[in-house]
Order: sequence, then C-alpha cells, then structure tokens
Amino acid sequence: MKRIYLDHNATSPVFPEVIEVIKKSLETNFGNPSSAHRFGQKSRAAVENSREKLAELINAKPSEIIFTGGGTESDNTAVFSSFRSSLMERPHIITTEIEHPAILETCGFLERNKCRITRIKPGTDGRISAGDVEKHLDNDTVLVSVMLANNELGTLQPVKEISELLKGTKVLFHTDAVQCGGKYPIDVCALGVDMLSLSAHKMNGPKGIGLLYVREGIKVEPYIMGGHQEKGIRAGTESVYAIEGFAKAAEIWIERAEKMRNEIGRLRDMLENNILSFVTGTTLNGCPKHRVCNTSNISFDSADGGALVISLDLKGICVSSGSACFSGSSEPSKVLSSIGCSPERAKSSIRFSLGTGLKEEDISIATEMICLAVSEIRSI
Ligand code: PLP
Repeated sequence: MKRIYLDHNATSPVFPEVIEVIKKSLETNFGNPSSAHRFGQKSRAAVENSREKLAELINAKPSEIIFTGGGTESDNTAVFSSFRSSLMERPHIITTEIEHPAILETCGFLERNKCRITRIKPGTDGRISAGDVEKHLDNDTVLVSVMLANNELGTLQPVKEISELLKGTKVLFHTDAVQCGGKYPIDVCALGVDMLSLSAHKMNGPKGIGLLYVREGIKVEPYIMGGHQEKGIRAGTESVYAIEGFAKAAEIWIERAEKMRNEIGRLRDMLENNILSFVTGTTLNGCPKHRVCNTSNISFDSADGGALVISLDLKGICVSSGSACFSGSSEPSKVLSSIGCSPERAKSSIRFSLGTGLKEEDISIATEMICLAVSEIRSI
C-alpha cells in the first residue's frame, strides 16, 4: 500500500542530501569544536559555516544565531531569559492562548512563580491584532511572545505590526517561527523581532536541533548552564552532525524555496477544495488568507477526528487530529476551542499538513480515501 504523509507539521522527512551530510559529518567531524587541535578546528569550521547558512535563511548575522536542542528549548530560553533578566518585582509577559505548549507551559510555570501572564484570545479566524497587544502593555511588561504561524491552523500572526508597536519600548519581542521554517519567508530584519525560534525537523532536517535568533545587543540569560559554548547562552558540546544537517536543509530551502512553496501551496489548495466540495458537512478552520502554504485544518460534521485518523492510517494516509488524546479520552483541541469552535466541531477536526515531494496523484488518492473514511465513520 502506498503511504501518503500529510503530517509535516508534526515532523518532516529528512532530505536525502541532509542524510548524506550527517553521515559524512559523523565520520569526519567527530572532534569537539572547542578543542584547539586539528580535529576540533575542523568541527569548529563546520559549525561556523552552518551558522552562516542558517543566518542567511532568516537574514540574520551569523553572530545572532544560537544553536539549541530544538524549538522547545529555544522557546523556553526566550521566555525564561526575559523573566530572569527583569528587575521588576512582578514581571508581565504577553502571549496568546494558541501558542505551542513550549511557550504556554513555561508561562504557566512562571505564573506560579511571581510572573503575571496575559494570554490574548484570538478572533474566530485564529488571529490577534497589534491593538490587542497594545491594550495589555503596561510598565511591568518585559516580553511579548507571539508565534509567526500556528501549528494546528497554519494561521499567520501580524508579527511585523506588533514589532512596530513595540519599537522604542524596552519590551522584548519573541516569535516562535517553528512552523515557518522553509514554508514561509523569514526575514528577522523585516519582522523586527528581538528573538525568534526555529527547529530543524520541521524543515526536513534532523530532530533535536534548533536555533534561537537573538538580535545583536540583546542580552540573553542561559537556560542550560555549563561550558561557554554558544556565547555562554547555551552550554553543552555542539551537536556537529545535527548542526550540519540543519544547515544543509536550510541550503536546500534557500535554493528551491519558491518552487517548493508554490507546489506545496498548489497541492494543499487542491486537497482542500476537493474535501470542501466532495465531502458534505465540512468547514475550514482558521484564516484562509493569512496562512502558511502547507496547512489546512478541516472539521467533518458527525465524524470523530481520532477515529478518522485511525481509519485514514489504515488506508495509507497519515494525518493528525486537532484533538490531543490523553490515555484514550479525547480532549478538544485548545487552539480550536480558543477560536470559538464548539467541542463537537473541535473534536471532529483534522490537520492536513503537506510538504515537498508530494504529487498530484497523492492528492487524488488522499481525497478518495478521505471521502471513504468519512462515509464509513458517519455510517457507524
Ligand atoms: N513551536 C511550535 C509552533 C511547534 O509546532 C513545535 C513542534 O511541534 C515546537 C515549538 C517545538 O519544537 P521541537 O519539536 O523542535 O521541540
């Protein structure tokens, strides 16, 4: 059976070229980049060349790139650092209700430890506005953290407008751009952010490696302490092979971004139009206009999302349900609930997230299987 992978927001297949680079790196660049001898220098050069490539991907300076263990660690570092470097008695952080748990859980922890947190509720389209942020700013605000694209809906937030609003204030601005790597052009200068998180495995690179962009002049407190790697912001011997793999994935996206994004967008639209026109009782969630090119979140009336995921898996189609499953009981997605979906609608939603390498034929097969799975589940 042909398996069609439509879950690129969970993780993406590693580019074959990236696998080659990683293999070679493991064989040849085993030296510790902090060692003074030849093996160390070779690994150091590999890390610094990679830093340059990743800086190019987001229009940053290489010195502004801090390698981390992934998107979660980058997010944690940004939030904790802003709290720890603040001199306020009760610092205030503004974020949204629909951030990834890497932000929300960290904010929840800080809230129990003398921080004040404002979580902005988005509109039914999944978006907030710069005005929403403005309303909540006060003298204690130390950080605004608003994601660039949401992982469940693909909806883009007005990050540039928020950075304009914060210009000239002392408030730091972080954006979680993990779901934009490759899929959406990222220019840190145009966005005007102070910090930005990225993760390699969402853009066809390896897992366990990410970066935190930290604008020149911004002081970041270390989250992981130890040696003085990564300018003292992130201790621990650099994972040279993962960093090289991340950079290779970035290089491929830089070279072919436009072509890949156009194709992914074309196929996503085809799948979405097929579903919305061939399957009755379907509704698109989020904002169709302000979206990354690869994501489509659709609710299917009277069909349980969890059951659909399993049925589709048996038919060779890999997707995610918008609901988080805890020990067998399915909770409606917090993101969908936050944008005003009823529990029934939230529980009947599926996230389709496409990536490069898919063909029109895959979309036809997926459409056929989705029609079949929905009618089977509705008939039970
Ligand atoms: N932020 C967003 C928006 C995500 O979608 C994810 C992963 O799903 C993360 C952060 C965490 O990234 P990582 O898996 O690299 O820790």
